[in-house]
Amino acid sequence: MIPYGRQIIEDDDIQAVVEVLKSDYLTTGPKIAEFERTVAGYVGTKYAVAVANGTAALHAACFAAGIREGDEVITTPLTFAASANCVLYCGGRPVFADVDPRTYNIDPEDIRRKITDKTKAIIPVHLAGQPCDMDAIHKIAREYRLVVIEDGAHALGASYKGKKIGTLSDMTTFSFHPVKPITTGEGGMVVTDQEELYRKLTLFSAHGITRDTNLLTENEGPWFYQQQELGFNYRITDIQCALGCSQMKKLDRFMARRRQLAKRYDRAFADEARIVSPYQLAQTDSGWHLYIIQTPGCDRKRMFETLRAKGIGVNVHYIPVYRHPYYRAHGYGDTCCTNAEQIYHSMISIPLHAGMTDKEQDFVIQSVKEAVANDECPQGIVER
Ligand SMILES: *Cc1c(COP(=O)(O)O)cnc(C)c1O
Repeated sequence: MIPYGRQIIEDDDIQAVVEVLKSDYLTTGPKIAEFERTVAGYVGTKYAVAVANGTAALHAACFAAGIREGDEVITTPLTFAASANCVLYCGGRPVFADVDPRTYNIDPEDIRRKITDKTKAIIPVHLAGQPCDMDAIHKIAREYRLVVIEDGAHALGASYKGKKIGTLSDMTTFSFHPVKPITTGEGGMVVTDQEELYRKLTLFSAHGITRDTNLLTENEGPWFYQQQELGFNYRITDIQCALGCSQMKKLDRFMARRRQLAKRYDRAFADEARIVSPYQLAQTDSGWHLYIIQTPGCDRKRMFETLRAKGIGVNVHYIPVYRHPYYRAHGYGDTCCTNAEQIYHSMISIPLHAGMTDKEQDFVIQSVKEAVANDECPQGIVER
């Protein structure tokens, strides 16, 4: 099977992990701060907090943003459930704004329509690594005094108008799951320029406990610490961070290869009227996390099955979040975003990852073209 995404682990990555295993610290040691400094330095932010996974990063960011019971947070339905679940964890309510049919990213105009006096934050997701229309989102955020938390799980290394994703908003989260731009096995991070947010993020991801003498409300002695908030154990290990530091050295190389493969797909499909390639917003540099095509006039399910049968690890990113039974049962029974629905019914992610060979890609290209050519569906887009 040619997977839609996978990690690249090389000898020096393995060596970095082995060194930590032989050292004094498996967790809460120096590799964590080193990894945080490395990512913060790469994107260009003052602060970074490494945590157990990308979902924990989103949860910590919602906490730091002060999301609580009764608050509304606007996000996209075309994302992994974690982008909305993090709001529920804090007692808030995710509100889904529809997507732009060209980019599949959240539509700023629909954000504006979904704002109420309960709205506290916006969580834009850079789907497939393609940056959202951040200028328009920030304009709205300034107008209504909303916190902006970017879910950058797909977009480490991507940029918007020459600025790296991570530097644009109050907070940005990343994930280091094996299919993401770099990996630590499991892992996540929040980056920010704001000291107060940094303090809250750190507190939250370590039980809400502090030993900082400047923050203690009393101090009974050198052993003393206080739990000041209800936090979680969202710590990442030094083992993971050693891998992360090693992987960061390769991020630009991985990105260049992803970009090269994406351009090859673009060229291969350029003259195919029934294969719609990803649209790129001007002045953005995508992270090329996913290559999502639409095949108008084809039966998506049949296409999917045909490609899987050939050993091509196609996928669908994503089922609109409000469609999940948990959401349906919790007040989202009537929620429907028309563009997200239309895209969901016709989208397929084809393999794209830095370790993919030209030969593998040629096989994918050939197979997709054949599948489209053999799939006549006169009614247009049909779901069985
Ligand atoms: C992967 C992902 C997450 C969650 O990250 P984990 O590290 O798996 O917890 C959140 N949002 C998006 C868009 C993702 O793709």
